[in-house]
Amino acid sequence: TKPIHVIGGGLAGSEAAWQAAKAGVPVILHEMRGVRGTDAHKTVGLAELVCSNSFRSDDAETNAVGLLHAEMRLAGSLIMACGDAHQVPAGGALAVDRDGFSAAVTEKIETHELITVVREEVCGLPPADWDQAIIATGPLTAPSLADAIRAETGADALAFFDAIAPIVHFDTIDLDICWFQSRYDKVGPGGTGKDYINCPMDKAQYEAFIQALVDGEKTEFKQWEGTPYFDGCLPIEVMAERGPETLRHGPMKPMGLTNAHAPDIKPYAIVQLRQDNALGTLYNMVGFQTKLKYGEQARVLRMIPGLERAEFARLGGLHRNTYINSPVLLDRALQLKARPGLRFAGQITGCEGYVESAAIGLLAGRFAAAERLGRVPATPPATTAFGALLAHITGGHIVSDDEAGKRSFQPMNVNFGLFPPLDPGAIEKPEGRRFRGKEKAIARKKALTGRALADCRDWLGLA
Ligand code: FAD
Repeated sequence: TKPIHVIGGGLAGSEAAWQAAKAGVPVILHEMRGVRGTDAHKTVGLAELVCSNSFRSDDAETNAVGLLHAEMRLAGSLIMACGDAHQVPAGGALAVDRDGFSAAVTEKIETHELITVVREEVCGLPPADWDQAIIATGPLTAPSLADAIRAETGADALAFFDAIAPIVHFDTIDLDICWFQSRYDKVGPGGTGKDYINCPMDKAQYEAFIQALVDGEKTEFKQWEGTPYFDGCLPIEVMAERGPETLRHGPMKPMGLTNAHAPDIKPYAIVQLRQDNALGTLYNMVGFQTKLKYGEQARVLRMIPGLERAEFARLGGLHRNTYINSPVLLDRALQLKARPGLRFAGQITGCEGYVESAAIGLLAGRFAAAERLGRVPATPPATTAFGALLAHITGGHIVSDDEAGKRSFQPMNVNFGLFPPLDPGAIEKPEGRRFRGKEKAIARKKALTGRALADCRDWLGLA
């Protein structure tokens, strides 16, 4: 059998290669790191996580990304298997040891008898004899390939900013000031209810910190002026500029936490850190993406109580993130309409997040393998998280190309808003009384996830 060529060994490309090989089709995976780096990657490992080490919520009953985890596990996902094997405690979230995780993915891919890894930069669109190819080169696609994609698709470049949060050495955090506790003491997989480190701030400290963020010197990106931020990943100084209360209602909210050193004093704001590696020697600052200049960043972050002597393993930074206008350019099986056999996967298609990128890689790998084996790719039902995400990317909700062109396409995390409505009566009601509080919203989510998992099993041919 002729091989499928996968370009890019990130979250999407690794999963695509794995799925195609699992179906019995040989794969050549082209990854440039080792020859050429990117602005965000630090290693040559496959599936390197460039920022946070979290795959977000693992709750498959009431959370859309948790549901996507569950569907990916059903489909034999490599990314999920390695993530599960390299978990670190993180409340209800699935967070991983980034080095252990990447090493595991690399080992599985490199030792698979049907996969060949070639360390090289692919400098233009795949040559004609790569009749089945998947471009999974991510938000930081190397410029020569990005230019070729732009020339081929003719579409205006779409882009937004993505930011990285700093990582702190654990032994430089002052535990006489900070304490371990998960918000609302939530106990997640492998967790204890004490998975986060919390740094408390009083009102005066918070106000001084906000002012320092607003005044701090930022890296400017003149050539990218006008590029929007991804809303789920705003830099802290941008949030601070939106108003003094924004951070206190965002990543610095004090709810669900009690200061172990002073239980009677309610903190005005809190900074949380989450374990970043299995050893527990590194902690990342949750939601603290920033484009403050490096020297300035360390100075301002050391204003946080408990981090006065913090040493940083990595500081935050901002990167431009490019994606294509998929609803116009791709068909439902992720092929470039203008060049069947050439697929796109991962963040470059306009999904957002590690898990979503891997999920679209999973689909692209299965579709390409099916085609190679002479079958028509079976797309997942729109009621599944896979299908809902695919419909968002490929314009499944849109009637004509013209309409798709007019709509502005924005990258998105998987969420329940992407799912088709439930049938009347699908939501389970409490016996003999009305819904109370959030019960109805929870029942609705449970009905959506129950339907999704049943339909996903059917699609995969599982009992
Ligand atoms: P990547 O994982 O980036 O993989 C692409 C691969 O292609 C890379 O290994 C690269 O070296 C290779 N490559 C590129 N060009 C070529 C070429 N021409 N030839 C050969 N190889 C090539 N998501 C989250 O869920 N949480 C976060 O905290 C988060 N933070 C982010 C921070 C930044 C700065 C950025 C840019 C993105 C962030 N994302 C985050 C978004 C996104 O989920 C990740 O970028 C994710 O890794 C995307 O997966 P991917 O497989 O599409 O791309």
